[in-house]
This record gives sequence, C-alpha cells and structure tokens, in this order.
Amino acid sequence: MIDTHAHIRLGEPIMIDGLSWVVLSASNVADSKDNLELAKINNKLLPAIGIHPQETGNLTDLEALMNDGVAAVGECGLDFSEECDHHKQAAIFIGQIELAIKYDKPLIVHSRKAMDETLEILNSYQNLRGVIHCYTGGKKRITNVKNLYFGIDGNLTYEDGLVEVVKNIPKDRLILETDSPYLTPIPFRGETNNPSNVKYTYQKVADIWGMSFEETEKIIDNNAKKLFGLK
Ligand SMILES: [Zn+2]
Repeated sequence: MIDTHAHIRLGEPIMIDGLSWVVLSASNVADSKDNLELAKINNKLLPAIGIHPQETGNLTDLEALMNDGVAAVGECGLDFSEECDHHKQAAIFIGQIELAIKYDKPLIVHSRKAMDETLEILNSYQNLRGVIHCYTGGKKRITNVKNLYFGIDGNLTYEDGLVEVVKNIPKDRLILETDSPYLTPIPFRGETNNPSNVKYTYQKVADIWGMSFEETEKIIDNNAKKLFGLK
C-alpha cells in the first residue's frame, strides 16, 4: 500500500505501518524543506515540494530546493473556496507546472471550487504527468482529465456520491491517499488521520470493484508506482 498524499510535520510520530511509501505533500516553502528533512529520517517518505494556492511563496525559493530525491511538485493549483486573486493563483500554479515539466517530476494538483479552470490550464500542457489530488470534479468531468491520475481519500468511506465517481474512474488511473491529518476514514472518522489508515480506503475500493483486497492493492499500487517512478 502507498499513501500518495499526506502531511507529516517534523517531530511528529511517523505512523506508516504496512505501507511501502508515503508521498509527503507540501503547502509552502517551509513545509517543502521539512519534507526533505523527513525523507532523510525515513526512506519510505517521499518528499514533494510545492506551494498551495491559499498560501504565499516564492517560486525561486522553491526551485532552489529541487534535487533528484524530490518525488513531486505540489500541492499546487487553484482554490476559489475563499475570495482571492484568481490571476495571482493561476500564475503561481503555472510556475509550478513548468517546474514539474522542467525537472520531469509528477505534479500534485489541488483544485477546490475551480475544477473547470484548473483543467483548462492543465489541458494546455502536453508532457505533464500528475494527479488531481482529492478529486472533486464529479462523474461528468472525468473524461476531461487528460492523462492525469485521480487521487481519492478517506471520505470515500462515508460519501455515497464519491462511490459513484470511483465507479467511473478507469481502474488504471486511480490512486489512494489519506491527506493526513485530514479526511479520516470510517472507522476513525472524527479523529486525527495518519497514513496507515489508507488501508480502509483500499478496502472500500475493493468493495466497489468487487475484487479482493490483494487484487485491488496490486492495481492501485502499480498506478502509484508508475506515476511516482517507484520500483
Ligand atoms: Zn494536502
């Protein structure tokens, strides 16, 4: 099992029992630096560097952190859930898309209340690989997501609408994540999340697909390995 999106703070307990890898998403430059430090502590932790759309940060500072060990760029994207300068968000998103292409890294995309605008930007690039993290585009936008993977979280265990979405996502484009410390799945809903809880989301997908846990795990882990270049 692989948790493809978690936030772990330096000094916090690293709860990754049963997992092969955990991709550490970053929200700002300080987080990005912490992720690089965490990866030195535990080689199952794969560091991403990025600036979340609701945070501020400088792309030059971000690029200065780039190295071979960086697993991905993000999370970055558009978030129109609060009033904000759409052009400013788009500029820093585009900067990170270009960073991912320049260094041949996958992109972790955050999109909230802005899926059409996000896809319009993403679809203007050809050589991009990545994931729409915590996909909220519904059934109808699935075909408009070109080449990218769909990241699904623990809310799948309690949101029926998301079950319908997962049924429509191609099996070879689905990866799973916790977004720890958020989005804790049933049976721990309401508590703080940790990466090892991703197993409940794997089980939920197995139930939806009507397959065994092991078969499901194999398919999903192959997707994640392909996206993040893991062997
Ligand atoms: Zn996140």
